[in-house]
Amino acid sequence: MASGVLNLETQTLNTPRTAAIIPAGGIGKRMGTGSPKQFCLLAGIPLLVHTVRAFAQVDAITAIIIAAPAVHLQQTRQLADTYKLQKVTVVAGGKLRQDSVKAGLAHVPPGCEFVAVHDGARPLITPALIRACLAEAEKSGAAMAAVAVKDTIKEVKAGFIRRTIDRETLWQAQTPQVVRTETLKKAFAQAEKLSFIGTDEASFLELINEPMAVVQGSEQNIKITRPEDLIIAEAILMQKAQNVLPGQAPALRVGHGYDAHRLAAGRLLVLGGVVIPHPTGLLGHSDADVLTHALCDAILGALGAGDIGHHFPDHDPAYKDIDSLKLLAQVMAAADREGYALVNADITVIAQEPKLAPHFPAMREKLATVCRTAESAINLKGTTTEKMGFTGRQEGIAAHAVVLLHQKVKDILTEP
Ligand code: MG
Repeated sequence: MASGVLNLETQTLNTPRTAAIIPAGGIGKRMGTGSPKQFCLLAGIPLLVHTVRAFAQVDAITAIIIAAPAVHLQQTRQLADTYKLQKVTVVAGGKLRQDSVKAGLAHVPPGCEFVAVHDGARPLITPALIRACLAEAEKSGAAMAAVAVKDTIKEVKAGFIRRTIDRETLWQAQTPQVVRTETLKKAFAQAEKLSFIGTDEASFLELINEPMAVVQGSEQNIKITRPEDLIIAEAILMQKAQNVLPGQAPALRVGHGYDAHRLAAGRLLVLGGVVIPHPTGLLGHSDADVLTHALCDAILGALGAGDIGHHFPDHDPAYKDIDSLKLLAQVMAAADREGYALVNADITVIAQEPKLAPHFPAMREKLATVCRTAESAINLKGTTTEKMGFTGRQEGIAAHAVVLLHQKVKDILTEP
């Protein structure tokens, strides 16, 4: 078998048209998340999206068929839509992995000479490894990614070791497993005849004595099965992201914002998106939510994107009396486009009156929702100035905000 092992760098890239079949039938039993693992977030993106994006980047892959559990069909289609996944068809899978692959096989478009079956829960697959498997399959008829076993392997019965197995010939199967479409159909027909249950395509090919070559897989091409696998996968992604962005903007950015508004009769007092009962309210072109403005300015500051006045001018009728949480949502969208997310925010409101602490929980909830973060990431503090200055005289309210943003893992499934 070792003679079939290939070096990734020597592959040719001209391969016939291939359909990817991605069984994504997990129900999340071992993940303990309650939702199927294909929807678990990995670096902020559902696992299945990472997987599909890698295949979409390979030109020879002309169709990607996701076989999802019938109960999650709608959710999977929505995912494909939301993330604008290319070349994708979502079909109903079955109970076993092989049922899902079979369902996928029935949807392979004519003209796809090969199929590449890949576990939905192996999100760290790279286009390079996919191409290597395709190229070897074209040469040998069938090829799969695998890695040599590193640990000493024991056969165990009733808690005791029976023997040590020679690991020289042992390889751990990964995916993709690439097979001629007709050959895989033939193997599946035979499996059905024999009521054979297999856990990968190679075991089906063994049934009909078809050989399969082995391509050097990657230790990083892990299958997400347990919650700790997600932690490992995220660490690998972060490390890759650092490599993809050498010497660019720092991964963390800090920003500060300050704002003050005058108090006046006949206005609502809005702070952190919450209306607070008070005889006076803040004056301004928008709802004059001074707290949210300071937060917006801090985020814009961290992005190096100027200030709130520049983005939402107070002469623009579009922003007249606007809910400042909407402005915050736009600022967060800008952060998102720049590839940044909020780590935490620390905000101090300076007001002689009213007492703000009772309103902080409601504010935190609103701000955290808009900032797509946990409430624990938003800290709110209130202080007076002991009746000194304009806030002490209750002429106005001021707010300071400090934020930290972190660079999100970008689309790291680019070429390695
Ligand atoms: Mg303001």
